[in-house]
Amino acid sequence: MNYDCIIVGGGIAGLQAAIQLGRYSSHRVLVIDSGYGRSTLCQQYHNILGFPDGISGDELRRLGRSEATKLGAEFIDGKAVKAIKRDELFNIEVETGLVYTSKTLLLATGLTDRFPKLEGLQACLGNSVYVCPDCDGYEVQDRRTVVMGAGKEGASMALILSARTDQLVYVNHERSEVPNELIVKLREKGIEYKESAIIEIITGQPGCFEGVQLADGQVVRAERGFLAFGSNHVHSELAEQLGVRLLHNKHIETHPRSKMTNVENVWVAGDLGAHAEQATVAMGEGAMSAIWIHKVLSGMKTKVPQL
Ligand SMILES: Cc1cc2nc3c(=O)[nH]c(=O)nc-3n(C[C@H](O)[C@H](O)[C@H](O)COP(=O)(O)OP(=O)(O)OC[C@H]3O[C@@H](n4cnc5c(N)ncnc54)[C@H](O)[C@@H]3O)c2cc1C
Repeated sequence: MNYDCIIVGGGIAGLQAAIQLGRYSSHRVLVIDSGYGRSTLCQQYHNILGFPDGISGDELRRLGRSEATKLGAEFIDGKAVKAIKRDELFNIEVETGLVYTSKTLLLATGLTDRFPKLEGLQACLGNSVYVCPDCDGYEVQDRRTVVMGAGKEGASMALILSARTDQLVYVNHERSEVPNELIVKLREKGIEYKESAIIEIITGQPGCFEGVQLADGQVVRAERGFLAFGSNHVHSELAEQLGVRLLHNKHIETHPRSKMTNVENVWVAGDLGAHAEQATVAMGEGAMSAIWIHKVLSGMKTKVPQL
């Protein structure tokens, strides 16, 4: 089971890279994907060229996987648990114990947002509840919006969104500490502040957020929601095993041109990297990584710009 390139992570970045590599018609490519990521959560992507009315993450993934498969990429559904570099080759072990070998490796494992499991919430993600002000600040313009979060992360999100709407409520679900200077700023911006656990998401049609029921009995009605709990899980474990340098927040810096990490022939693309966490950025980085992987595989470049 020897490949030219193994891509771990078949989300937006990994699929775009698989398509780009497939179009060279000369590389054996394997994508290993555990099937749950930010792109499986988002019901409606905005801010993507060509999709003014949005497109769901599942649909984008379905189209991407189908295209990559037609271009010759192979797929394994499962989790990669171990990565070793030996004699210039990468050995990637999956949960079943099988080991796959490749000359180059792209890690596109993304991150997992931390938020409570509340019934009805998942159907709202990307439709009426969001996580990223760069992607979806536009969606809350002049609308009553509840920021569901924890501590200073939630407070900071509410302050960012105050440029969009003056009808904001911040519910500190975990009742974790908010520094006094942020409390003062919330007050100055006219943002309502509540400390109580959310026990229920109120929805109309599935995916249509209408507010939250709090444990203290209050009901907060709103048209839109935002999540900001902090401490997202960045899936950098495989990178760490290979000696890739992690930033303090576990994201990974890559060379701006080649997207290669500090470890030769290990690339990183998408939300695992250190940048704006957006689908279009993930696509761009997936494509860039694949172009440089091709240069290495075809012998065009023996020395790739590296950190
Ligand atoms: C609710 C929500 C709304 C969003 N809205 C927008 C928007 O409107 N516009 C926008 O541009 N962006 C949006 N985003 C961000 C966007 O989803 C991400 O930027 C994008 O998914 C990043 O792509 P990725 O390939 O890096 O990661 P992902 O899409 O998360 O894919 C990573 C993949 O790696 C797999 N994986 C992880 N670890 C392993 C392992 N060890 N072995 C095998 N597989 C593994 C996962 O199963 C997953 O399939 C939104 C995100 C969320 C959560």
